[in-house]
Amino acid sequence: MGDPTTYHFDLDPAARPAFAPLVERWWPGIRDAALKASSARIYDAILGVRAIVIHATAGGSSAGAASVIFDRRASFHWLVPDEDEPQHGQFVWATCHEARAAWHVRNACCHPMLWDGRGRINHWSLGVEVVNRQIRSDAFSDWQVEATAQIVLYAWAKYPNLRHVVSHAMLDPARRSDPGIWFPWERFRAAVLDGRKDEVPELVAGAAAIEAVLPSAPFCMVV
Ligand SMILES: [Zn+2]
Repeated sequence: MGDPTTYHFDLDPAARPAFAPLVERWWPGIRDAALKASSARIYDAILGVRAIVIHATAGGSSAGAASVIFDRRASFHWLVPDEDEPQHGQFVWATCHEARAAWHVRNACCHPMLWDGRGRINHWSLGVEVVNRQIRSDAFSDWQVEATAQIVLYAWAKYPNLRHVVSHAMLDPARRSDPGIWFPWERFRAAVLDGRKDEVPELVAGAAAIEAVLPSAPFCMVV
């Protein structure tokens, strides 16, 4: 059991992976909805990304989490399915355009350890939601932890200034506790930092996207 308000680690720029694949699919119909539930970034969409925020839904379904985007109440870039959903073990859902600022942290939130306490974190961050009820009987699966780590690796390779991996609870401790006391933060951190050793060769990195080659291929998480 951990204290989610302390969940945080920094990424060493010298250890940044050259490439890290992510198997993701758009949630059906959400691409247009996400445009209306996000903002244009005020910083460069690549160079301006400095943090990735880990959330958990407190609900038990991906559909419930995705509905907040359709309702324009909040948004996040990825959704990691729960173990009782068919996508679990297969792929993560893309739920908002990475180039847009999703609405996953209150604008007033800031932390001195993150970019000198700068606010409007959504404009310089990415948001990940892990589907989990945040109760003891609903453990995060190993795959959910690995898939969340793989999202961080993918983003670390893509965004050269990405430094901070942080919980929502650390950014908004008075109001939020996600991803919760049961999220295995140390195991997740190790998966991120160990995962970078599994870089794929240049040849594979330069290959066409799998969907362009094999439209009906079975998907699996590449870790
Ligand atoms: Zn959250």
